[in-house]
Amino acid sequence: MSKPERIQGVRGMNDVLPADEALWTRFEEAVASTMRAYGYQRIRTPIVEHTRLFVRGIGEVTDIVEKEMYSFTDALNGEMLTLRPESTAGVVRSVIEHNLLYDGPKRLWYTGPMFRHERPQKGRYRQFHQVGAEALGLAGPDADAEVILLCHRLWSDLGLNGVKLEINTLGQPDERRAHRAALIEYFERHLDVLDEEARRRLHSNPLRILDTKNPQMQPLADAAPRLIEFLGEASLAHFEGLQSLLRSQNIPYRINPRLVRGLDYYNLSVFEWVADGIALCGGGRYDPLVEMLGGRAAPGCGFGIGVERVLERMRAEAVDLGGGGCDVYIVHQGAGVLEPALQAAERLRDAGLDVILHAGGGGFKAQFKRADASGAFVAVVLGEDEAARGEATVKWLREASAAPGEGRQQSVALEALAQTIIDALVADGDDA
Ligand code: AMP
Repeated sequence: MSKPERIQGVRGMNDVLPADEALWTRFEEAVASTMRAYGYQRIRTPIVEHTRLFVRGIGEVTDIVEKEMYSFTDALNGEMLTLRPESTAGVVRSVIEHNLLYDGPKRLWYTGPMFRHERPQKGRYRQFHQVGAEALGLAGPDADAEVILLCHRLWSDLGLNGVKLEINTLGQPDERRAHRAALIEYFERHLDVLDEEARRRLHSNPLRILDTKNPQMQPLADAAPRLIEFLGEASLAHFEGLQSLLRSQNIPYRINPRLVRGLDYYNLSVFEWVADGIALCGGGRYDPLVEMLGGRAAPGCGFGIGVERVLERMRAEAVDLGGGGCDVYIVHQGAGVLEPALQAAERLRDAGLDVILHAGGGGFKAQFKRADASGAFVAVVLGEDEAARGEATVKWLREASAAPGEGRQQSVALEALAQTIIDALVADGDDA
């Protein structure tokens, strides 16, 4: 019989292995506590939505809708469905469907996998994760400032220093239309400099030409008419309002007039958090979206954080992940020892400790190797003699103030085991 094929994971879709768990957990716990600190409630929407939700909500002439969506026909009923490439459209759909805005504004957050058919490279995957927040029903720049402050607190909770804020304003649709007309006229006068993609976009989405990565077109984009020259009083006041709130809270920012964001539904404020030229988070205001998706008009703003990119940044800045590992590793050997070892493990877990009970046999030496590798604070050793005396030997694997010293060991009655270990952990500042 030939050897069966080894099936690999899908390109650009990654496993998260246990070795990275401490990093993910550190991030996820910071997110949950930051969201709580600002009164945001979690919402969980499906990974699959109707394709037309994204076509309408994100915009037909966007990279995502044009070429990045994982779409398929439901074989049972012929519906066109799509794996969500982002979550704002789905959250807004759900808010409309369940009439969540009936009693006033809503502060919501989500996290989960997103799917985009991009060319995989470092920091760009086909399945990646986002954390996002949406403040719905709030029109003032205080809401924009709030979601920005929330991100700022998250970075500082995580101990990240190098994350910088860039902001811009996209104005209102009529102001953009006037700017757009001026842009088309400007680019038409310089058709010879435009590359193929720019020419294709000239009449459908000229704003995106400003986003060009083509160095030959850079000077042209730099000298193009600026949206800010087309903004009315209200839009300018909103932008100034946001800036003055950011200044009042000492949040440094840079205005980046080239920041346009890829999605069509944004208006007024847009922002990005960037570290070493890499966008960790993008967000802004999307007042037209609720109505565009069939709801009663309601303003909104929010952001999406790229989780993998933040984790990479946490690695780069060597963020402290705390202990990781478990508290106790139980080493046991001998006739009739398994039952008291199992019993001891259950008692320790009752007391709130995280315990690995050695499995798979092997001598004490091999078991101690496993205990060391587990990251446990102590090894609890049970042999036939100890078990007969109702005791265990506790071996401290890590140096700690209240423990008798790394490598030292002591006999402890099984009844006193949990308390002895907890005392040492608590004294060491661990909240076991
Ligand atoms: P966007 O919805 O495109 O504004 O994306 C928000 C954030 O998600 C970006 O700032 C990135 O950090 C992250 N992101 C977007 N696309 C990808 C991808 N293909 N792989 C990994 N992260 C991504």
